Amino acid sequence: MSKPKDYSWMTKDKLMTYTFIALLILAVVSAVIWSQVTPIDTVTGKPFMNLGLTVALDCVVAVLIAVGIDAFIYKIASDSPLNTMSAAVFGLIVALSYSLGVPAMATIEESMLPLAAPQSFVYVALITLVGLVLFKKLQGLAGRKYVNPAAAAKLVILLPFLYAVFVPKDHTINIPTLATNLNYSGTSSFGAWMQLCFGNPGPISKGTLPGYTASDVFQTLFLDKFHGWTGGASALAVIVVGIGLFIVARRYIKWRITAAYLGVTVIMSMLMFAAYGGDPALRLMFELFIGSSIFLAFFMATDPASTPLTYTGQIIFGAGLAIITVLLQTFASFYGGSIVALVIMNLTSPVLDKIGRLKPSTETKEPKLPKAKAFAPEKVKTYQCIRCGACMRVCCHKLSPILIKQAFDKQDFNAMSKLNADYCTGCGHCSYVCPSRIDLKGSILRAKAMLRQQ
Ligand code: SF4
Ligand code: SF4
Repeated sequence: MSKPKDYSWMTKDKLMTYTFIALLILAVVSAVIWSQVTPIDTVTGKPFMNLGLTVALDCVVAVLIAVGIDAFIYKIASDSPLNTMSAAVFGLIVALSYSLGVPAMATIEESMLPLAAPQSFVYVALITLVGLVLFKKLQGLAGRKYVNPAAAAKLVILLPFLYAVFVPKDHTINIPTLATNLNYSGTSSFGAWMQLCFGNPGPISKGTLPGYTASDVFQTLFLDKFHGWTGGASALAVIVVGIGLFIVARRYIKWRITAAYLGVTVIMSMLMFAAYGGDPALRLMFELFIGSSIFLAFFMATDPASTPLTYTGQIIFGAGLAIITVLLQTFASFYGGSIVALVIMNLTSPVLDKIGRLKPSTETKEPKLPKAKAFAPEKVKTYQCIRCGACMRVCCHKLSPILIKQAFDKQDFNAMSKLNADYCTGCGHCSYVCPSRIDLKGSILRAKAMLRQQ
């Protein structure tokens, strides 16, 4: 029997399993919060399905479709690996980034977004189908993903509804602009609109108007919103669960993107306050805790495949995401604009990958390595690179192992030489940490040997 191999304890499957558990917790929290509400169709007077049940069924529909399509493609395409956990995570992200809940100030017309069941099942299913086939599988054939599959698929499928977000006839109260001073005073204030749009519509439908003091609005934004992205129903839950996941998978999750996003959102909010006045906390709370922003910052912006590899690239990515989101929300009144901002920033990743690369050195610096685990050789499963960047962080010569391997695979001698493949001393740290178990060391040593023969 061959000897067990030592690798870091993290594998791609484990990373996906932890992410799935985190998303599942959020799905349960949202379903519990929203189970208090059964929206009423304001045109027919009939009730829609209970929102908590809708959240749960949306998640089941998306996960089953994603896992089913992944298994089907695996069966018919010999070179497509079975990625059950990754597909399940994708399904939950689609369901949790879907908007539900009919706000009290909205009317249901044909042009409205499909915010309730059974339409939500159809659209969640379509987004999952298009996202998995077109943006995960087909895009993956290009060797890397240029856009976040869930975000891109949602934009494609919901594009015909986009104009409804801005059309006054669909709302009894116009969507307010953020390009003005925001305050709580009066029934036409931003605070009052916030409560009509995101507060619990149950009491509102019985004639009890919600309070719109600072603490009422803060509670809605931070603890329990009843409209918008399902996963962002409770900003507090997203933050607690997200930080928990970042701690468990700290070497493999690009948390710097989230940190930069939140930091720059604070700065942008303060700049908008300086420009327009009003209550600074109200603007800040809205920009930070609106469901689309907080869920996207923790669970979509950190998608390794479509984000930069370097620390500097990740910080610029998070900052750009915040700037574009705040600008879209302020000047286009496009609440939920973070999804467009994400796709735009995804497209900059190939450029950002080149910023902040460490300077290769012949000197050896011993890295801090994660815990080891022994794997029987037959249990070592390999996957495509997920672009977590872990190999770049542990190289004792500050090389970029994944980039050297890609250059080696293309037999690009110029790139191998520019990336200083000849500095590699074969320590194997890069292969050890790789959650996809790619033989980086082997490829890089072969690249080094080829360069020497040149
Ligand atoms: S094997 Fe080479 S590329 Fe990999 S960590 Fe060691 S020195 Fe760096
Ligand atoms: S090759 Fe590097 S970036 Fe790719 S999965 Fe492995 S450790 Fe992560």
